[in-house]
Amino acid sequence: MKINHNRLTIHEAYKLLRSKQLSSVELTKAIIERIHQVEPKVHALITVTDELALKQAQKADELIASGDINPLTGIPAVIKDNMCTKGILTTCSSKMLENFVPPYNATVVEKLTDCGAVVVGKSNMDEFAMGSSTENSALFITQNPWDLARVPGGSSGGSTAAVAAGETIYALGSDTGGSIRQPAGFCSVTGLKPTYGRVSRYGLVAFASSLDQIGPLTQDVTDCALVLNAIAGYDPRDSTSAPHPTPDYTQCLTTRLNGLRIGVPKEYFVEGMQTEVETAIRTAVSKLEELGAKADWEVSLPNTPNALAVYYIIAPSEAMANLARYDGVKYGFSYQGTDSMWEAMKKTRQYGFGAEVKRRIMLGTYALSAGYYDAYYLKAQKVRTLIRQEFDRAFEKFDVLVTPTSPTVPFKIGEKVDDPLQMYLSDICTLPVNIAGLPAISIPAGFADGLPIGLQIIGKPFSEETILKIAYAYEQATEWHKRKPDL
Ligand code: GLN
Repeated sequence: MKINHNRLTIHEAYKLLRSKQLSSVELTKAIIERIHQVEPKVHALITVTDELALKQAQKADELIASGDINPLTGIPAVIKDNMCTKGILTTCSSKMLENFVPPYNATVVEKLTDCGAVVVGKSNMDEFAMGSSTENSALFITQNPWDLARVPGGSSGGSTAAVAAGETIYALGSDTGGSIRQPAGFCSVTGLKPTYGRVSRYGLVAFASSLDQIGPLTQDVTDCALVLNAIAGYDPRDSTSAPHPTPDYTQCLTTRLNGLRIGVPKEYFVEGMQTEVETAIRTAVSKLEELGAKADWEVSLPNTPNALAVYYIIAPSEAMANLARYDGVKYGFSYQGTDSMWEAMKKTRQYGFGAEVKRRIMLGTYALSAGYYDAYYLKAQKVRTLIRQEFDRAFEKFDVLVTPTSPTVPFKIGEKVDDPLQMYLSDICTLPVNIAGLPAISIPAGFADGLPIGLQIIGKPFSEETILKIAYAYEQATEWHKRKPDL
């Protein structure tokens, strides 16, 4: 049998590894070869950890030989470069951390390692996860594997492009306002942002702590459930981690949706939305109805348009507090050319932070300053509560809400870099979900002129099983997830 290594899903690779038709070393070598072949076009990875990967693969093969195998054992993964990896460069795509080698692993990395995973690389991203196109990386730009002249989305653009390009079997991303789902939509992969607190944030470089959440980027829904199984769960080292028990997320994957109630909120079909995207989402909802679900098109969440403003007050406010630690003293870049402490701190930040990060620090500082706190930050928190309540009410009637992931297909590199407001608008469909702390998935749902379209399914808190179930049924009834870019 001829194996196409770089297009194997986790569950396919698991079967081959278990039945000894494939070894982890063989799979890892094939993936590394693929990385070297396509990386000059895609630029998804900051660090390729080939030596470490081969060692981990050897160890995985020993585990498998001894019968100690789980679905992630011996399978290559890419980790976004804002998750701490012990002894491996973790830059956050910032000059501030360009030489930072963490002395410890993030909990998610620890959990994957415990499963015998093979880490093949660390991926490019928008600096400190601030952005929607990966163009804010201080290191280099990542290309969309479907069209190299276009962005892969962001901020987890490197992780997502790597999955789409076959440079890894799966990846981890982080999502503060859409950074897993939006690139998943732009690259035709499956991306899940779990409920806030479902996955530990310990060892994730903090951007906006009340919004950040880690999640899987995979080639299909089954793989997404498998990775969530491995990374979800309570972590005493993250005080916001939820104590809820974690089910086996693969158990909910069925192909009938009888009795499920789906709401399609009209505010998500925004002005300026691309017609092909709207058509694809309408077609997808009809498909879900064919599978047994009941859809209601008359749902309204009137505070949706306020989510953008709320996000761009709360996220920068939290970011400015989190980024205060980069002072050139504790760790990271440190300007050495002066004896003055204040001058050193100023120069450290001037050099270490890029334009978007500085913009967010200024926005956050302004919103939190005396005299403006009530008008901006406090007001944003109040509207945040309204947005959450609106979702709560919708979920009294519906099991899930279905929306586009983005209003458009991937845009051209350079198209929005000089217009931050345009850039911010590309997350209009994903931001409200983080504001309310909900789980949501983006799955492939079509193409417009060869460019991917994503479908977003939003669930109640801790209802990952329901959204995975619907995503799976849709996926099994369609072929979109099987299309791969030609590189
Ligand atoms: N694009 C949004 C921002 O720039 C969201 C980023 C994210 O989810 N990390 O803040």
